[in-house]
Amino acid sequence: MSVTRRTAANELLDSALKNFYGAAEEMGLPEKLMTLLSHSERRLEVSVPVEMDDGSVQVFKGFRIQHSTALGPAKGGIRFHPDVDADGCEALSMLMTWKCSLAGVPYGGGKGGISCDPLTLSKKEKERLARTYAARIAPIVGTWQDVPAPDVGTGEQEMVWFTDTLAKLRGQIEPGIFTGKPPLYWGSQGRTEATGRGVATCGLELLKALGVKPEDVRVAIQGFGNVGSYTAKTLVEAGAKIVAISDVTGTYYSPKGIDIDKAFAQIQSHPKRMLECFAEDGCEKLGLEDVLLVDCDMLFPCALEGVLNNENANKVKAKYIVEGANGPITPDADKILADKGVIIVPDFLANSGGVIGSYFEWVQNLQGFFWAEEEHNSRLMHVMKGNFKRVWDYAQTKNVDMRRAAFMAAIQRVADVEDLRGIFL
Ligand code: GLU
Repeated sequence: MSVTRRTAANELLDSALKNFYGAAEEMGLPEKLMTLLSHSERRLEVSVPVEMDDGSVQVFKGFRIQHSTALGPAKGGIRFHPDVDADGCEALSMLMTWKCSLAGVPYGGGKGGISCDPLTLSKKEKERLARTYAARIAPIVGTWQDVPAPDVGTGEQEMVWFTDTLAKLRGQIEPGIFTGKPPLYWGSQGRTEATGRGVATCGLELLKALGVKPEDVRVAIQGFGNVGSYTAKTLVEAGAKIVAISDVTGTYYSPKGIDIDKAFAQIQSHPKRMLECFAEDGCEKLGLEDVLLVDCDMLFPCALEGVLNNENANKVKAKYIVEGANGPITPDADKILADKGVIIVPDFLANSGGVIGSYFEWVQNLQGFFWAEEEHNSRLMHVMKGNFKRVWDYAQTKNVDMRRAAFMAAIQRVADVEDLRGIFL
């Protein structure tokens, strides 16, 4: 019997499917599970009308996709970005299924977003957008149904608007319905920094496994938002030298090392939290993409997907790449980098600190009992280090790269539970 494989015109979804099929075939996953897991359980598209400050009405497109709820409620972020579309959200939703599975948290995978440019919206417009979107996706979200969180272009403020809107609609607060809330409003100490801390921890664990000291490593980080900035901070604390950072305003490169506290001070003083105008002795401003290609040992792409592709992968100088963003390396680039001997820590292992932190927040919300930040951080480190080791050891034993090993381990857990539950719904 010839088996048809699902393909997609959308690059991100196509590459998510290719990664899935590649690992599933290698591990001998039964065809029926391959068919089942290559499709999403639910794709919701909503119109989000917003009254703009000038009195006009604009209708934005919003999405929430649930790839799988086999392991528990769907889990994953909501992004506000001009490139958001249904297929892209589906790809990211699928990635969340593998991320939650690998992380060992009791969730399936989901993702959503609104196609909009948050940088051009006023705070009031953003609030109306967030609240209307929350109301429109309300029928499919819930503590035991689908638990969204921040993603590109969203943060604590949006999570407060979402949670508060649903509290008003339902007449009672349901604190575990969204994660990534601020500690003042049902959030967890340590959640904001969790993704970056986890990404840096994966980089440091890789160095440990290879017998390299952090002090001997020069690092470049693409993106200085929530993920990139805390990755940088954690790496500096461990002794590494950050030679390049970047955001949409450009690359800031200094071979003698960038003062990360100064970079934090810069974004805090900027109205849009940008590195724009960042300057210090010996620091040169380069083009947007240069951060990926500068002379360094370890590269952390912590911005958007597809940034390393068949046009630039050959020019990468780093020996190690830790994927802070979701899907920053295209499958073509993955092959080019593997041929060059670059070791890659895959996204859904490297950036799983965010969803692990979300799980801790959700647990605290269910209990109505809050942990101290040290407890959050020490549990996070423990889980991240254990998961890194599991994937590293699996890759060595099976003689595959870390991405393939992570996929195989993650798919296996979902497949096992699907097998137990059967294909009723
Ligand atoms: N948006 C983050 C991610 O892609 C966090 C998801 C979550 O905490 O649910 O992993």
